[in-house]
Amino acid sequence: MGSRPYGRRLAWGAAALLVAGVAVPAAASASQSGGASDVSALSAGHGAKKAKNVILLIGDGMGDSEITLARDYTVGAAGRLNMDTFPLTGAYTTYSVDKNGKPDYVTDSAASGTGWATGQKTVNGRISKSPGTDKPMTTILELAQKNGLATGSVTTAELTDATPAVLASHATDRSCQGPADMKACPSDTVAKGGPGSIAEQSVNHKVDVLLGGGKARFDQKITEGPYRGMTVTEQAQKLGYQVVTDDKGLAGARSGKPVLGLFAPGNVPVEWTGKPAAQGGTDPQRCVTSNPERAAGTPSLEAQTRKALQLLEQKQKDSGDRKKGFFLQVEGASIDKRDHAADPCGQIGETASLDRAVKVARAYAAEHPDTLVVTTADHGHTSQIVPLEATPPGLSSTLVTNEGQQLKVNYSTNTPGKSQEHTGTQVRIAAQGPQAERVLGVTDQTQLFTTIRTALSLR
Ligand SMILES: [Zn+2]
Repeated sequence: MGSRPYGRRLAWGAAALLVAGVAVPAAASASQSGGASDVSALSAGHGAKKAKNVILLIGDGMGDSEITLARDYTVGAAGRLNMDTFPLTGAYTTYSVDKNGKPDYVTDSAASGTGWATGQKTVNGRISKSPGTDKPMTTILELAQKNGLATGSVTTAELTDATPAVLASHATDRSCQGPADMKACPSDTVAKGGPGSIAEQSVNHKVDVLLGGGKARFDQKITEGPYRGMTVTEQAQKLGYQVVTDDKGLAGARSGKPVLGLFAPGNVPVEWTGKPAAQGGTDPQRCVTSNPERAAGTPSLEAQTRKALQLLEQKQKDSGDRKKGFFLQVEGASIDKRDHAADPCGQIGETASLDRAVKVARAYAAEHPDTLVVTTADHGHTSQIVPLEATPPGLSSTLVTNEGQQLKVNYSTNTPGKSQEHTGTQVRIAAQGPQAERVLGVTDQTQLFTTIRTALSLR
């Protein structure tokens, strides 16, 4: 950073920070291409203590390598993604714990999500329940609802997958996604007096906007309790949900009733395709920016985010309390899933897709400066950019980037043929708006709970 043409802007950004009364090193505000929009984002929302709205964007498995890979491929090494141009950036640690509360250095998405959703760490695989005692822990979405805020969750995974699940459900194990999947959660079943599967809990929570995949999970039959004999989708309709399954349905959804969007039977198929990494590498390849498995009418994450923001804002306008805003989480889930599969093109396409959702969120915040926007990840992942002359022992692929250069990406955190693994590295957290300065330095992901809670003054 600090190349000459940007010197004036940096100085100005730093001055704006000082005016706001917060001492932030100039480097923290540095951005080579964000330009004036960064500074205006800072001066508009920064320094304010209270946020009306929070938009939290999660790249699942989106460590620094995943961000760099997407940047290099799409906008070039000297370019900047939307997520690169937040005014304030820090790092946070993501470790989970064992049942005795001792560190487990590599988290999964369930324990990680529980960290920011509840402010407390848990064991891998668990959804917003405590590590040893397996007791439900209050989530940020539950607090937001209790305080009269509208709430939403958007994901490219199944809506019952770990990252969306941590907001509006409590489960002993992340596998307990639908009523037919309760084997690992004996004490959570409705028959045992528990809250039921993640799908049932999500609609019982009456989250205002739920958009993602997982239709097959919601089409499972409920076998116990008051909704016995119905599918979870029918239960949702009984609870007042509008159920939509494609972009036209989503466009027609109106505020006034909660919305459940189920855009694929399982995870939403990814946007880009290409050759997976292979032992000994691949021929230089360009990614294909389409996927025949992605049905026509599947809304993009960007479009879903835009609609979710409209619905949540309208709901609060209709409520008559102009001071109350919303909490929205948006997850780019398949960065992680394609990283596990050593599929660089799938992974890059999903990172670029999340980045367009970040642009939507930041555009909203530009119009509504009382909005805290945070972009982060839940854990690091396997992909590494290595020299072209390297011969990694695991899987690798050579890509030809949009700027015409070759790039080699390596996937070697597990034996070829097995699922590649998460890593225990710290990950980026970037923010703008009220309380955004809390992301600076090195924090832990449980502190994100406090940041959101403080910004929204949730009691
Ligand atoms: Zn994963």
